[in-house]
Amino acid sequence: MRVLIGGGSGFVGRELTRLLRNKGHEVTVISRQPGPGKITWSDLESKGLPPCEGAVNLAGENVMNPLRWWNESYKKDLFSSRIDTTKALSEAIAAAASPPHCWVLVSGVACYKPSLTADYTENSEWTPFDLLSRLVKEWEAAALLPQSVAKTTRQVIVRPGAVLGRDGGAMKQMLLPFWLGLGGTLGSGSQPFPWIHVSDLAGIIVHALEAPTDSAPSPQVYNGVAPALNTNYEFTKELGRLMRRPTIFPVPAFAMNALMGSERAVILTQGQRVVPERTLESGFQYQYPDLTSALKQIIGS
Ligand code: NDP
Repeated sequence: MRVLIGGGSGFVGRELTRLLRNKGHEVTVISRQPGPGKITWSDLESKGLPPCEGAVNLAGENVMNPLRWWNESYKKDLFSSRIDTTKALSEAIAAAASPPHCWVLVSGVACYKPSLTADYTENSEWTPFDLLSRLVKEWEAAALLPQSVAKTTRQVIVRPGAVLGRDGGAMKQMLLPFWLGLGGTLGSGSQPFPWIHVSDLAGIIVHALEAPTDSAPSPQVYNGVAPALNTNYEFTKELGRLMRRPTIFPVPAFAMNALMGSERAVILTQGQRVVPERTLESGFQYQYPDLTSALKQIIGS
């Protein structure tokens, strides 16, 4: 299969590319920069969709960019980098003479309202309630294909929690403070911490791309989280235990809000119990279903 990946040069995209190539598929990345194995977003706009059987969008300004202050210009970039690239891809798919069999958007679990008790499956109803949930709403809406195209192109949305892996995402920023013995719970620590190992997220995307065409309603949503349902306290203590480091420095929610901006700090200070019901029902087999196996792989012990 030929697969086109918007934002495929990033943390998740590199893992996805590795997995697809190992399985004998061909990958072309859409990037802001030209290069081998890549096309640019301007190429997509001017020349249309290159021949492919699968398309995925992973592009987006990093929500946890440590180099950027949380302000209106950053928020605008978070929206436009996701919505404009997703729209560009869905429009190119709709205009293609031979559209791909499957189109996967990777969005996020911020659509589900943080709660200590509610369990959210892919069937849970939700309406936007804050900045990040509004972002998910507009982002997923930008991916929708016209009815006529949706008959032949299966539309899939994968909603990941925090993606854990050695080469990027949250772990890259967390490992040093934990090594230094400065790790601790965030906020109360009792908030749910939906997470997934990057290899499993890449696996779910490939599972969706390779699935046979069926008559399930479109788009099909898959929660991209491990089934373990951990809290921030459990995550912190397990990471500290495996790294043999103390985790005695809790970071209070007000400090996180001041440091990161409260609209963004909710990702860490609050959380959702996200259940990968359809992901499991679809037969996907997790390599890292629990924290211990995922963190052991990441920290390498
Ligand atoms: P990355 O931060 O690694 O970014 C992916 C790619 O997006 C980059 O390689 C870059 O490609 C492109 N990009 C970055 N900024 C912009 C911009 N301003 N405009 C256009 N393109 C841009 O993302 P991840 O791989 O970590 O995540 C992939 C997707 O999954 C993202 O949409 C993210 O929101 C979502 N997600 C990620 C989570 C995580 O924990 N990592 C959690 C939940 C959701 P290039 O430079 O080649 O143009």
